Amino acid sequence: MRNHCPCSCHIIPPFVVDKLKEAGVEIPSQKTNNREFRERRDAKNALMRSEAFLVAPPVKKADRFVYDSKTTEHQRLLLVRKESGPASPDAVVNTVYENAGSVREYFKTFLNYLSVDNHGADLILNVHFGKNYANAFWDGDEMTFGDGDNQVFTNLANALDVTAHELTHGVVQYTANLTYKGQSGALNEHYADVFGSVIKQHAKKQKAATADWLIGDEIMGPALTGQALRSMKAPGTAYNNALMGKDPQPDHMDNLYKGSADNGGVHINSGIPNKVFFLVATAIETDKAALLWFETLKTLKPTTNFKSFKTALLKIAKKMANAGSVPATTETVAKQSFESVGL
Ligand SMILES: [Zn+2]
Repeated sequence: MRNHCPCSCHIIPPFVVDKLKEAGVEIPSQKTNNREFRERRDAKNALMRSEAFLVAPPVKKADRFVYDSKTTEHQRLLLVRKESGPASPDAVVNTVYENAGSVREYFKTFLNYLSVDNHGADLILNVHFGKNYANAFWDGDEMTFGDGDNQVFTNLANALDVTAHELTHGVVQYTANLTYKGQSGALNEHYADVFGSVIKQHAKKQKAATADWLIGDEIMGPALTGQALRSMKAPGTAYNNALMGKDPQPDHMDNLYKGSADNGGVHINSGIPNKVFFLVATAIETDKAALLWFETLKTLKPTTNFKSFKTALLKIAKKMANAGSVPATTETVAKQSFESVGL
C-alpha cells in the first residue's frame, strides 16, 4: 500500500495568498511543515512499512473524530465529537461531522470505496485551527480547518466542497498517489475538485446542466461576495477583484501554465481537466462521470500527465460502456471533450 503524502494540500492556493498580501491583506494560511506534522507523518510511514502492517492491514469502520484546536496550531487537541456520540454545542463541529459523513457515504455508496484508504481509516477532523487561519488542508493523515478571518474567507469547515476536496486528496494518496507537481499534481488537484463538486451536487440534488460548478464559493467572506476559488464550467472566471487578482486557470492546452510557482501550477492547470469533466458530466450526468473518473484513478500512476490520463480514461470508458455501467456514447463524448481543450 502506498501512503506517502507528497504534499500538504491546501484549498487556498499560494498565489491567492500572495495576491492578498500585495493588496495589504495578510491572513495566516500556510503553516504545515512544522515538526509536529513531520514527526507524526514519519511515525505513521514507519508503521505502514512495518511487516505486521503489510501482512494484515487493519480494517476499520471509517469513524469520524472531530477535535477542537482551540485557535492553537495543535491537532487532536480536544476531542469534541465522535462517531454516534452526542452533538456538540458548537455548530461548526456538527457541520464538519455531517459533511465528512456525506463524503464517506458518497464514496461508499456510489464508488464502493470505504474512507480514504478503502480500509475504513478513521476520519480525523480538526476545527478552529490557528488564529483567523484562512485555509484547510489534508496533511497525509487528517483534515484541518481554520476559522478564516471572516472578511475575505469565512470558516473553512462549513463548506461541503472544501471537506470533499480535502478528503479526496486522501483518496488520491491511497490510489494513484499522483505526484504533487506539474501535470500529475494538477491531476491530483483536479480529482479533489471533481469530488468536491460531485458531492456538493449530490447533496443539493442538482443536475450537471444546472449546477454552478464552483469550488469554494461558500467560504468567501463579505469582502468577496459572489466570487469563488475555481469554476469547473468556466475555468479562469471564478474571481476577478482587487484583493485576489484574476483567476489564472486556463481552459485549453494553448494556455497551459509552464512556470514554477504553485508546484508547477497544480491549482492553475487543473482548470484544463476540470473543463473536460464538466463537459462529460453534462453529457452523461455527474454520477456516471464520477464513476468513470474514479475507476480511471485506480489505474493511474504517480507520474501520469494529461495525455496519459486521456489515454487511460478512454480505455476505461470503452470497458465500462461495454459492461453497461456508463452510456454507450461515453468514449466518444470523452474523446471530443479532451479534444476541445487541446488534448
Ligand atoms: Zn487541493
